[in-house]
Amino acid sequence: MALNIETVGVIGAGQMGAGIAQVAAQAGIPVYLNDVTEDRVNAALATINGLLSRRVARGEIDEDGRKAILARIHYTPTVDKLGDCDLVVEAASENEDVKRKIFTSLRPFMKADAILASNTSSISITRLASVTVNPERFIGMHFMNPVPRMQLVEIIRGIATKDDTYEAARAFVARLGKTSTMSEDFPAFIVNRILLPMINEAVYTLYEGVGSVESIDTAMRLGANHPMGPLQLADFIGLDTCLAIMQVLHDGLADSKYRPCPLLVKYVEAGWLGRKTQRGFYDYRGENPVPTR
Ligand code: NAD
Repeated sequence: MALNIETVGVIGAGQMGAGIAQVAAQAGIPVYLNDVTEDRVNAALATINGLLSRRVARGEIDEDGRKAILARIHYTPTVDKLGDCDLVVEAASENEDVKRKIFTSLRPFMKADAILASNTSSISITRLASVTVNPERFIGMHFMNPVPRMQLVEIIRGIATKDDTYEAARAFVARLGKTSTMSEDFPAFIVNRILLPMINEAVYTLYEGVGSVESIDTAMRLGANHPMGPLQLADFIGLDTCLAIMQVLHDGLADSKYRPCPLLVKYVEAGWLGRKTQRGFYDYRGENPVPTR
């Protein structure tokens, strides 16, 4: 039986949830967006509106198009409304307890054949699936940041994920105009298994005084042709998310090469989480970002 996705729920209206809501609405799909407070959803809607206005200015969509996309995104304060959705994508903070609680709260409401997906960057899909009613309909859909711009969605199958769930997820990604890759369910999957140790090593390079924030980022931009330096990228991802992914790699693969750099821990403890808090390896409060070390 084909699993048709006509309505989408998104849990967590942070940088990723907002992006997922936007691309689904742009594809003509009604979206129900949930977060712990209405303020966060309003902030997400303001961000989406800003990005859509830029698309209007570039001539990619017209004013009616902007309004129609925004009108497709509905705020829902409780998860029961998500029971009407054919696909629910969880994009809440990278914390296993938080995600488990969300999936448990959804248990009474999900339709029998609805697909539940997690946008987790690193946590085991098989383990998350174990708290859901229907692990066969659970899957990892790892969007990249910023969602509207990035082409890839990594799809991760848990041990119980059925073939038709995977096919429906692939078809959904294609409908968004994006490309999917398949990854087995191992800590941090493919992209972050490779990317995060590189970022963590950049933080060690800073910690050991090998280079300043500026020299490390310039070296990797101009020396390795990376579009962003690793510390700039870490700020963009969010340092709390970076640390959480390193912890998952360290715990899940039990190899000391994945130990999170103490300096990364210190920044997170300070609440300097990168762009989203205006300060991380750079300070974003002024006109131009200024290195904090
Ligand atoms: P974020 O901090 O910007 O947003 C997380 C949102 O989840 C917040 O608005 C928070 O209020 C909300 N939230 C927390 N608990 C909730 C709950 N119980 N119910 C509803 N909402 C809740 O984080 P983000 O960068 O958007 O990351 C979200 C997820 O996406 C994480 O799993 C992260 O690993 C993953 N991810 C992040 C990136 C990235 O570059 N930032 C890339 C790919 C995937």
